[in-house]
Amino acid sequence: MFRFNNNAGQAGDGCLGSPVNSNGYRHGRGRLRGDDFGLTARPSLLGLARTYLETQARLWPELAGTPAVPTITDAVVEAMADDFERRFRIQLVDVFNPAGLRWVWTDIGLGYVRFSDEGSNPRSLDQQLINVLQRARHDGVFIPWHYVCADYAVSGTLACRRGYIVAKMLVERRAETGVAWFIIDDLGRMNRNMLESLRLNELVEATQVRVIGASDGFDSSNQQSKVMLAMMSSFNEVFIDQLKAKVHRGQSDTFKRGGIVQHPGFGYRLVDVLTPEGKPVLTRKNTIKKRVEVDPEAAEWIVRGAEMIVRDNRSPGAVAVVFNDNNVGGARTWSSNRIRKLYARERLVGVEIFRRTKQVRDRDTGHVDVVQKDRAEWMTRECPEMRILSDELADAVKAKLNLGSMRFGKNAAELRRNGKDPGRRADVYPTVLVRPVCGGCGKPMALSRSTGKYKSFVCLNSIHGGHGCRNKGNKSARIIDEAVLKAVSAQILDEGFITDLTAEVNIRLAETARRPQDAAKKLEQEIASRQRQVGRLTERLEKVQDAGGLDTIFNKVAELNRQLEAKRAELKEEQRRNRRPPVTSVKEKDVVVALTQLREVLLSDVGRAAPVLQALVGDVVIESRQVEGQKRPEMVARFTIDGIPAIAALDRGKAAGANDPTVGLWEFLNTDRWIMLGKAPRDPRDDVARFRHPCCRP
Ligand SMILES: [Zn+2]
Repeated sequence: MFRFNNNAGQAGDGCLGSPVNSNGYRHGRGRLRGDDFGLTARPSLLGLARTYLETQARLWPELAGTPAVPTITDAVVEAMADDFERRFRIQLVDVFNPAGLRWVWTDIGLGYVRFSDEGSNPRSLDQQLINVLQRARHDGVFIPWHYVCADYAVSGTLACRRGYIVAKMLVERRAETGVAWFIIDDLGRMNRNMLESLRLNELVEATQVRVIGASDGFDSSNQQSKVMLAMMSSFNEVFIDQLKAKVHRGQSDTFKRGGIVQHPGFGYRLVDVLTPEGKPVLTRKNTIKKRVEVDPEAAEWIVRGAEMIVRDNRSPGAVAVVFNDNNVGGARTWSSNRIRKLYARERLVGVEIFRRTKQVRDRDTGHVDVVQKDRAEWMTRECPEMRILSDELADAVKAKLNLGSMRFGKNAAELRRNGKDPGRRADVYPTVLVRPVCGGCGKPMALSRSTGKYKSFVCLNSIHGGHGCRNKGNKSARIIDEAVLKAVSAQILDEGFITDLTAEVNIRLAETARRPQDAAKKLEQEIASRQRQVGRLTERLEKVQDAGGLDTIFNKVAELNRQLEAKRAELKEEQRRNRRPPVTSVKEKDVVVALTQLREVLLSDVGRAAPVLQALVGDVVIESRQVEGQKRPEMVARFTIDGIPAIAALDRGKAAGANDPTVGLWEFLNTDRWIMLGKAPRDPRDDVARFRHPCCRP
């Protein structure tokens, strides 16, 4: 027996690709098709019921006034519409009961009508129904209202049309419903989906129901019907494909001409195009011609959000909160994801891309998937007047968002599987100044309370004594931040520290100046010599006649090329090493200026201060120490102050060519450290910040 996906039991979600939860939202992507999908609007439905009664009373005068074709009153029409809606929504079959009626018909049938939209369908539902009922009468077939099925504004390429599903159920359950005829206005109404046509064909075969096209004369009792049905629906399918291709071509041409083919999105607005006299210009379709321009207010927010992400190290979620609080773009629906999508758009830097994705629809389930197309298929155009962000800022935002996403979820798991450390997401978007390390086990502590004023840290190992850690209890983030900051602020502007740092910098600069530069010259000579050899061999290749000799030469060339690559990499490294800093010595006052700026940044916004502080103090280790004569242990934060990486981190944000002579110096010193061979590492300044922690007990 032929089986269907859609039986009465699961018909409610039969047209959905995946299960629906209790809220009615489907899981995964795609539009939700509710139980009203394709339901005829109430006024049209009342009209349809009225048309039915008028037509049937005329065609079947014997039945007029009986329960099958009742006299027209508002109440009757309303009740008929209610019944129709109920069948459509719940997807069930009401069996027509002819008891008490005169059997004036030879057979019972069902009628199916479909209307896609004003533009594409010449005949309304009413007219289709009249055609169907007249044709039925011609063969003595009575179609009760229970067996009238309709879909409104639904494409015939979809198999999940709800009215159509009810019609199929009527056929499937022929034994109960008594349906022997399936009448439709013309076969194009039935299906524009070849596969579904073939399925219907099989159903018709199995149940021996006769399918009739009222207007096109199709009749399944005809021997060639099986072929006809499939062929006609495939013609219809071809017709729709051509229509799609036409629309597609039209849009592509419009895009190439610089016209508007997609909504420009947040940051832009559509304005009327005006003639020199100030009158709106009309399009061919008699609508007002529009053009896209930057919306200054929205653009300001976009720039501000970008700066928050790049300069203040705020997460996209944090930007979404600010956007929602300020009702940016009249919406309070900003989310981390929407912010990411906003900054992924090329339009922000004056490039428009069209046909980046395509929609793929499953015609059995109606589920729509958005699929990324190959880069080669994209259409692009330059539109400098649409630019909102500089290339530099837009790239920085993308790099930052990418870095954040690589440290989180699936991407981070992927990196870990490949043996790479994704790093911590909290370092990309810091929410606290110091992320301490547990002194009991060496593991970074986790935020046990991460919102509001009272953020606190806990060692996850200590909870069950993992790795022998006994460093129990919550440590207030505020107290740690204050203690470390206080110790650091006092230390970095201490005279001794400034003198030491200045001396240290000058020693390194002097060593850099003494470094020999012969190695690079020697490498350059070696590279040139190998290039000549490759050239000679290639020349010889052209003269070789014996195929056996070729292999040797090929191998030799490949070997030389490998050596060339290695030498080039070596040279690059050597040149990097030979870079000279912009100055040969620094004065104490330069160092004081840099450190003062450093302190200012440390006291500013958490997002900006946290990475600089991290560079300055490295890991902050939290320990509790028992002090004699005191009941409670003393909390100690241990860290090492190193000014150079911190000032280097600070300098990275500054523009090159600024008036400050030390710009570039700190970054140079920071990356240069490892080549100071033969010199003992600088004695780091170990510092401790002692503090009382009220909530910590031994
Ligand atoms: Zn621990």
